[in-house]
Amino acid sequence: MSQTPPPVNSFAQMQVGRPTGPLVQGYEVIIGFETHTQLTTQSKIFSRASTAFGAEPNTQASAVDFALPGALPVMNKGAVQRAIEFGLAVNAHIAESSVFARKNYFYPDLPKGYQISQFEIPVVQGGSVEFFLDGEKKSVRLVRAHLEEDAGKSLHEDFIGMSGIDLNRAGTPLLEIVTEPDMRSSAEAVAYAKELHKIVTWIGICDGNMQEGSFRCDANVSVRKPGADLGTRREIKNLNSFKFMQQAIDYEVRWQIEQLEDGKAIQQATVLFDPDTGETRAMRTKEDAADYRYFPDPDLPPLVISREWVEQTRTEMSELPRVMAQRFVADYDLPEYDAGQLTLSKATAAYFEAVVTASKQPKLASNWVMGELSRRLNASDTNIEQSGVSAEQLGQLIGRIADGTVSNNAARQVFEGLWSGEGSDVDALIEAKGLKQMSDSGELERIIDDVLAANVKNVEEVRAGNTKAMNALVGQAMKATKGKANPAQVNELLKKKLG
Ligand code: ADP
Ligand code: MG
Repeated sequence: MSQTPPPVNSFAQMQVGRPTGPLVQGYEVIIGFETHTQLTTQSKIFSRASTAFGAEPNTQASAVDFALPGALPVMNKGAVQRAIEFGLAVNAHIAESSVFARKNYFYPDLPKGYQISQFEIPVVQGGSVEFFLDGEKKSVRLVRAHLEEDAGKSLHEDFIGMSGIDLNRAGTPLLEIVTEPDMRSSAEAVAYAKELHKIVTWIGICDGNMQEGSFRCDANVSVRKPGADLGTRREIKNLNSFKFMQQAIDYEVRWQIEQLEDGKAIQQATVLFDPDTGETRAMRTKEDAADYRYFPDPDLPPLVISREWVEQTRTEMSELPRVMAQRFVADYDLPEYDAGQLTLSKATAAYFEAVVTASKQPKLASNWVMGELSRRLNASDTNIEQSGVSAEQLGQLIGRIADGTVSNNAARQVFEGLWSGEGSDVDALIEAKGLKQMSDSGELERIIDDVLAANVKNVEEVRAGNTKAMNALVGQAMKATKGKANPAQVNELLKKKLG
């Protein structure tokens, strides 16, 4: 059976049409991303040297990484495995057979004089990344994702006035993920990058550490008048924080519009973002593919990926965040927004599901995990695995809100008590703190009668139809019960008494 792979590297439609994003000074913003993700293999893509970060320079480079004459690359199966997993996660086509190519250029941190990459036949073809932006569903199409090796690093030792080369990073496996120019604002670009980051860390192919360079984004940016052909792009290199990403793109867009408004043309170029000045600055004029003299690497045979391997990988992969989020919406009746937030990480999703199991209250569980719990985690700089309140405890507490034992406010105090170790049993803490809601309606009625007697003016206003005065009475009654009454019950009794 022959299957035609989707077109590779075609920005087929020039994407002329109605603008789908906000206009900036009358211009439409067009963004495409190339993201280099370092894969989590223990050893390098073509050698057995370790990929661990932070070792002494050149202690993790083998003959292959040093490009010693005669040293030959051997493909690391784990890198291919991870590329397949990524392809499946984004609904892409996994090539039956894929080819490595030499990308030739000269740079001190590239001792071979070429980078082994993929050109015409990448391992992952097509696919898309989906996410929500301000409640609107977005889909960014991927052109491709290809395997390649990382380069080394130049170290500039100013204090001795010399530069050295560290080849520890040389040969670290990268999956470069390329999108169509589908994004229409810096906010959308950041949302895409965050979603991609979530996918690669979720499936475990990349550790996602942006500071260490494990996830590096290049943003290709152009602007055009709505309806015009695509404008000339400039590529902002190596954005390694979401904040800089947004700043860099915003600056670049303003700069390009200024040039065009001044009647100047945009030159295709590679630029760097300087976080200190908040500006982008041209590094070099852009090379074309032809400048790299790509050709198939004779040292590496074509990479053949059997359909059995792909299917085996599919069955072994855990539920993806996008699929899990859809399940949360369908099974727990949660808003899409909640589902997206709860699937930001595997740990958050697991915690949430454990709270639901213990409480049988999905929406309350979602509110508490996204609200009180995440506030508390942020405030104490703790991640959810180290949460001071376990999912079982929170589930039990939510159960006590649902069955009317405690009010939301009281539950917050119990939560704080659990977190700070005042106690570990939810019911015992409720008892000890005297937070049980008043369930004796006779006692509550007496208190309400007192409140009505003491607030004659409010009572008159309520009778005249003032709802604010009603709130004031509820507030008074809650105060008189020290917050132990059930507000809904107070409301009901007040309404009954006031007719
Ligand atoms: P190269 O590999 O030379 O950098 P590609 O043609 O593969 O160039 O495109 C790289 C990236 O640039 C892709 O993500 C693509 O979506 C994006 N891109 C292409 N044309 C434009 C454009 N006019 N404006 C913004 N982004 C673009
Ligand atoms: Mg590029």
